[in-house]
Parts: sequence; structure tokens; C-alpha cells
Amino acid sequence: MDCLVGRTTLRTMAGEVRIRKKILERMAEEASRTPKQECCGLLAGREGVISEIFPATNALWSATEFEIAPQELFRIFRAIRDAGLEHMGIYHSHPGGPAAPSARDIERAFYPEAAYFVISVEAKAFEIREGRVEELQIRMV
Ligand SMILES: [Zn+2]
Repeated sequence: MDCLVGRTTLRTMAGEVRIRKKILERMAEEASRTPKQECCGLLAGREGVISEIFPATNALWSATEFEIAPQELFRIFRAIRDAGLEHMGIYHSHPGGPAAPSARDIERAFYPEAAYFVISVEAKAFEIREGRVEELQIRMV
């Protein structure tokens, strides 16, 4: 996120984020709709549960980074407020994986109270033996 234009509500429980199943499904749909670029948007809800999704345009049209234009961000924050909801999260996809924040994501995470969802469609395989983790190459045959 490029700039701080709205307030975020603190999650009720440290270490966890509560979200409706349909919103997780909608995020996966949004990600699969733009397999060549990162999708992004805001998440809102009330009483500690994310229940609404506000898809946004990735102003960078990029497969490796995203940004929501300030005007759109402002419009979404207003829509969230008008609906009597609280901003609780930010989501974006990593079309090529991994499902973890990039260095840029971490550097530009301006909402410390928000839950950052990173959606990826990739599958990874690992060997885990006596606490040692090694990634396995997945070969489609
Ligand atoms: Zn990212």
C-alpha cells in the first residue's frame, strides 16, 4: 500500500485472523482471474471477523508487485466506513508464488494492525525428516 489514508482496527486475538470462508474463496477467485498479474484489495468486517472483500486495481499491472492508487484507496476506505464496517486486512496474490510476503511487501506494509493475505496458487513439496526441511522438485509426468 502506497499511502496511509484510513484507519485499521486491531485484531481481537494476537496471532490469528478470523475470516468468513466465502471471503477466502473470493480471494482465490480474484487471484485466478488475473494469473499474469498480482490482484489486490482490502478486507473489512466487524466484531473481529473479516466478512467483506473490496477488490482494487493493481495500478502497477505487475506480476511481482502491486499498488492501489491513492484515489481508489480513499474511495474504498469511504465505502467501508459507509457500510458501517472496519478495515481489517489487505490481500494480494503472488501468481508465481511463494505464498509469503516479499521483501517489498514487508518494506511497504504501512498498516501494522492489518492482516496481510498473500494468495498463491502454487504447490510446493517438502521432505521433512527429523526437523530438517528440504524442498522437493515437483515434476509433472
Ligand atoms: Zn507481494
